[in-house]
Amino acid sequence: MDLFEKCRKFTRAAEARAAGFYPYFIPLEDTEGTVVVIKGKRMIMIGSNNYLGLTTHPKVRQAAIDAIRRYGTSCTGSRFLNGNLALHDKLERDLAQFIGKEAGLVFSTGMQTNLGTISALVGRDEFVITDRDDHASIIDGCRLSFGEMKRFKHNDMAHLEQVLQSCGDQGKLVVVDGVFSMGGDIAPLPEITRLCAQYGARLMVDDAHSLGVLAGGHGTAAHFGLTDKADLVMGTFSKSFASLGGVIVGDAQVIDYIKHTARALIFSASMSPANAAAVVAALEVIQEEPERVVRLQAIGDRMRTSYRELGFNTGNSQTPIIPIVIGDDMKTIAFWRALFDAGIYCNPVIPPAVAPNQSLLRTSYMATHTDAQLDRVLETFAAVGKQLDIIS
Ligand code: PMP
Repeated sequence: MDLFEKCRKFTRAAEARAAGFYPYFIPLEDTEGTVVVIKGKRMIMIGSNNYLGLTTHPKVRQAAIDAIRRYGTSCTGSRFLNGNLALHDKLERDLAQFIGKEAGLVFSTGMQTNLGTISALVGRDEFVITDRDDHASIIDGCRLSFGEMKRFKHNDMAHLEQVLQSCGDQGKLVVVDGVFSMGGDIAPLPEITRLCAQYGARLMVDDAHSLGVLAGGHGTAAHFGLTDKADLVMGTFSKSFASLGGVIVGDAQVIDYIKHTARALIFSASMSPANAAAVVAALEVIQEEPERVVRLQAIGDRMRTSYRELGFNTGNSQTPIIPIVIGDDMKTIAFWRALFDAGIYCNPVIPPAVAPNQSLLRTSYMATHTDAQLDRVLETFAAVGKQLDIIS
């Protein structure tokens, strides 16, 4: 059998494209954050992770431009050998301090941070324990490790305890999303840290969607006052930090071990100078303009309450990620399409990304959305929801 046979049989995407219901890889001709242009039409963006709206902040933009002027466009190599700038080292120090840990290590993407960290830490005869709703990069990190992977039901602490008990005395790493990327709910760190201490497990929190969002931007552990108890905190720069890359922070010795063993770090080129400089600047802006985080929270609260009042199911969201759970796949795609035609851009999420009959529209907000934009979003959701019999 020809290796490419499976590609020829893969017709789902082509069929959806032909039917005009293909919601992926949509080319944006322009973007200013809250507004994007598609086929010449301006649309309100409620499907991005640009939580603080910093991709177009003058200081962040200027920092990236200045870095290109000074260092050029690429580091053309791994940090291990020739691609380490003093700027990367500064960024690590700044982030470790901001999150409240001894040391940090930056990778070229968030995905690589999870792949490199988990596979470096979890060896043969050890366990890595994940929430069933953890991000794909965590799952892939577990697959790359030589340890055994076990999963517990989403935010189910009784199940986590059972799983921890089943691992005996071997080394154990529990990895959870601080804020879950689809549901927008928060991991119950008080219970998780208690169980980790009781069963001798280490904890890693993926704060991709919490840095810049929770606790003045300091993340999930800070939100619960548990920074000391989260052994490792991971972050990405592709969201609040308006750039590209990722970081892991923790005790200096642990970070130094990861630095010398993570293949995703050692065998991949470093973050570009512009990306690194943008994060340094974004981190400064987060601290200089705390009103952005406050505004983001207020918008999240307002939108969640309004959707609920309209009769939508927003799941267990507690953050500016607000899923609108529709259930049926076709209805979800029809809803997405009607919103798209009305100038609202969000993301439909259907199985296997969610459980069967749990299809949803993922909406997420930015500190820079205006009240007028949000009013329009709500009016459009109300009209389409009624038209499709999702609300009455
Ligand atoms: N972790 C989580 C929870 C994420 O949502 C994402 C990206 N969506 C990543 C890791 C990977 O980050 P990046 O896009 O920077 O590779």
